Amino acid sequence: MKRKALRLDTRLIHVGEPEPRIAGAVSMPVFQSATFEALGRTDYHDLGYIRLNNTPNHIQLHAKLADAEGTEAALVTSSGMAAITTTLLSVLTAGDHLLAQDCLYGGTHNFITEDLMDVGIDYDFIDGSDPASWPDRLRPATRAIYVETMTNPLLGVADHTALVDFAQTHGLLTIIDNTLATPINFRPHEHGYDIVVHSGTKYLNGHSDIVAGAVMGAHDVIAQAKRKLDHLGGCLDPHACFLLQRGLKTLGLRVRAQNRNALAIAEALAAHPSVIQVNYAGLPSHPHHDRAATLFDGCGGLLSFEVAGGVCTADAFIDRLRLPVRAPSLGGVESLVTRPAATSHAGMTTQDRQRLGIGDGLIRIAVGIEDTDDLVADFEQALNA
Ligand SMILES: *Cc1c(COP(=O)(O)O)cnc(C)c1O
Repeated sequence: MKRKALRLDTRLIHVGEPEPRIAGAVSMPVFQSATFEALGRTDYHDLGYIRLNNTPNHIQLHAKLADAEGTEAALVTSSGMAAITTTLLSVLTAGDHLLAQDCLYGGTHNFITEDLMDVGIDYDFIDGSDPASWPDRLRPATRAIYVETMTNPLLGVADHTALVDFAQTHGLLTIIDNTLATPINFRPHEHGYDIVVHSGTKYLNGHSDIVAGAVMGAHDVIAQAKRKLDHLGGCLDPHACFLLQRGLKTLGLRVRAQNRNALAIAEALAAHPSVIQVNYAGLPSHPHHDRAATLFDGCGGLLSFEVAGGVCTADAFIDRLRLPVRAPSLGGVESLVTRPAATSHAGMTTQDRQRLGIGDGLIRIAVGIEDTDDLVADFEQALNA
């Protein structure tokens, strides 16, 4: 299938499907087999085996994932964290130094601060919006920069253009977690990022029914990551591969609906007298709105806000919501609501959270694809009660 002539929505349906179709099946069948006939293959990493990430379900899914992010190759993993840890461990070795954005996803932050030092990899955090502060953090051993497209839960947008320029000037590898934007809203590789990682658990699959991850990049980078993943064992089961392959086909429809719903909710909240702050890069009031408007085709389905009155008022508001489920995670078809101070950021002290701008009463919404008016009406009734 010729790639460049077709738009992403078309390619998400047709690229990465077997040609010819297997027994005529319109949908990619599940190959529920742990091992495959050797057929003369002698290299360990090429033997057909689920842990070696090369069953027919892996091969087709890799083609679809690589095409989605516009890279040469892709590797699917058993979770987003497997994608992130495998990538970092395959591009860095003992003695290397990593520059990582502050306020990363909690699991990534903890891996960098608690585990990388055990294998002799050092790090420093950088403010993604403050290019003037980066040169001071650079060391002769600095090898790579790790950032996220948007931060969670405040939806900050790093200066991606300056980051890629800085990395290219200093010969650093760039790695970006594009989970929150998805290639529908932002395609990092087009902006010069080398490696893209995803939690496929979120928007890529989109139905809150599997945990998965992905790494996208050049052939050699992905081959290196595959060898590391073969050893670490973080492979995705073929049935989960099938579900992720299916989910990807509706990515465009879902993410654009989530962009619309999140913007409508953000606008309604911002207009309400009981709301003191709304964090959504699609709102002109967001400090990184202009950057987001230049870089992104949409600002995604995640937003956060604070109501006047603190924790008790916030919890009472959440209890009055009828549609969103009170649960962590994001990117599914159903709206979810959490209070980060009580869930994703509960491990931090109140002072540390305050320093990052995460108030104890902050409410985070992961918007689904329900009807826009129904969602807005639900938020309004919960605020007005
Ligand atoms: C959820 C998430 C992860 C981790 O993904 P899992 O699939 O839960 O391992 C990493 N990065 C971001 C931005 C996430 O939202």
